[in-house]
Amino acid sequence: MSIFEKTRAAFHLPPGVIYLDGNSLGPLPKAAEARVANLLKDEWGQELIRGWNTCGWMAQPDRVGDRIARLIGAAPGTVSVGDTLSIKVHQALHAALQLQPDRREILTCSGNFPSDIYIAEGLIETLGKGHTLKIVAPEDVAQNLTRETAALMLTEVDYRTGRLHDMATLTAQAHTLGIPTIWDLAHSTGAIPVDVEGADADFAVGCTYKYLNGGPGAPAFLYAKPDLAERIMPSLPGWLGHAAPFDFEPSYRPGPARTRMRIGTPPVIAMAALEAALDIFEMTDMATIRARSIALTERFIAGVEAATPELKLVSPRNPAERGSQISFAHPEGYAAMQTLIARGVIGDFRAPDIMRFGFAPLYNTEADIDQAIDHIAEVITQSLYEAPEHQIRHAVT
Ligand SMILES: *Cc1c(COP(=O)(O)O)cnc(C)c1O
Repeated sequence: MSIFEKTRAAFHLPPGVIYLDGNSLGPLPKAAEARVANLLKDEWGQELIRGWNTCGWMAQPDRVGDRIARLIGAAPGTVSVGDTLSIKVHQALHAALQLQPDRREILTCSGNFPSDIYIAEGLIETLGKGHTLKIVAPEDVAQNLTRETAALMLTEVDYRTGRLHDMATLTAQAHTLGIPTIWDLAHSTGAIPVDVEGADADFAVGCTYKYLNGGPGAPAFLYAKPDLAERIMPSLPGWLGHAAPFDFEPSYRPGPARTRMRIGTPPVIAMAALEAALDIFEMTDMATIRARSIALTERFIAGVEAATPELKLVSPRNPAERGSQISFAHPEGYAAMQTLIARGVIGDFRAPDIMRFGFAPLYNTEADIDQAIDHIAEVITQSLYEAPEHQIRHAVT
């Protein structure tokens, strides 16, 4: 068996499904079922409160953080795990704003995910210090960095188009102007090689339910550059980020390094599933995953463009400039995606007209790609999306 046959076999993939949506929610790792079942039965069921000590639950976020650190080019001890990505964005942006307290402009781009932008707006309101949020086109970020910029907050891979920012270059440009950087790795982690240390990123955040396959609602992570970790006060000083949580002191004292970015009780059950998912990444490495991701996405673009010229590629054509997803625009994109999903080809849709397909080499194969190409051609060229049942809007697109 090749490496990727072995990794594919590690997932539960329902028969008849071609899954091209691992960029939204990765599939279930087979080992996660037993891991979670054991945790419920043997740990929670038998140990009760003792499990915090006897089963290593309290150390779990640090253990998982060190495993994520390896995937994003960070040193052990620098990644904290817990909460959701939206909360991690809040914590990281708040931390970054402490580094240039006299500046007021937060810079981001229109390719950023709405939650990141809403969180920034809310934080500005909460701080009440007159910060502003400047949103520019993705290709205009560099030219908008100035000595007024308080922080640069970007998502490395654009969730709509898959366009990839040059993290190292933009961070270096920001640093020449004294600007701290926050990188959201939601669509990078587990999808492409990431090197936060090599790029000298100040903060990075990400989720674990997309390409890391940690399961719905799996916890998020936050990286802080080691020399900054203890210069910042957390926006959400919770008891488990305290220097001595079980001293129950009347006032907050921040814990060392990444500890202070912890807030409250870790999601132990969710983290057990995530640990099983991370085991699969041990079977290969990110460079190998990236090479295969490029081969799969190139095959998909070539096949779709040949069979379905009605679809317009909105992802960068150069594989070096995109992540591991391919997006095509079509005016009936929503209904077309619903039609594909009804046929077992699962991608997703992002308004106004983007059909989005994610590629995860751990389980996607050439056969998946070729079959998806055939289904897409049938659905579009025969206008199968016109059927009324495919036009109904669901809450989650
Ligand atoms: C998926 C995603 C989120 C989602 O945040 P949650 O708090 O996990 O719901 C936020 N930001 C980006 C860039 C994303 O891609």
